[in-house]
Amino acid sequence: MTQANQKVKEQFNHFLSKKGLKGTLQRNLILDAFLDLDRSTHIDELYLLLRGKHPTIGHATVYRALRLFAAAGVAREINRGDGLTRYEVASGGKRRDYLVCIDCGTVTEFDNSTVEQFQAEVAGSMGFSIQSLKIELRGVCNHCKAQQG
Ligand SMILES: [Zn+2]
Repeated sequence: MTQANQKVKEQFNHFLSKKGLKGTLQRNLILDAFLDLDRSTHIDELYLLLRGKHPTIGHATVYRALRLFAAAGVAREINRGDGLTRYEVASGGKRRDYLVCIDCGTVTEFDNSTVEQFQAEVAGSMGFSIQSLKIELRGVCNHCKAQQG
């Protein structure tokens, strides 16, 4: 367990106690698997991964857990326009933002530390503390534009 992952777990537990919810064993297993994966995943993939080790975990439990991670700000939802909602760890790791082509579905990640700083300033000036955010620019990629002439 890395320090960053430990922080994510603390953040999640904090969220649960604020909501008056208890951490469950299954939810912890799901969170561990999600953090260990260290990349974006979707419900079916995470479910299959978990089921191998913990046959009692149900698909709906994984689904609810991921939604809860997102609500807690420890996971980010990524929508690549292919109808599949993916999730990735929202904090601890490096921020990842996306350019999504609405024609071919190509996703390009970009780093936006300048934008991030600006957002923090704007939020701060309005007395708002950011829990999570996601940047996804949707449009048409170079390749598709060239094909469209
Ligand atoms: Zn494209």
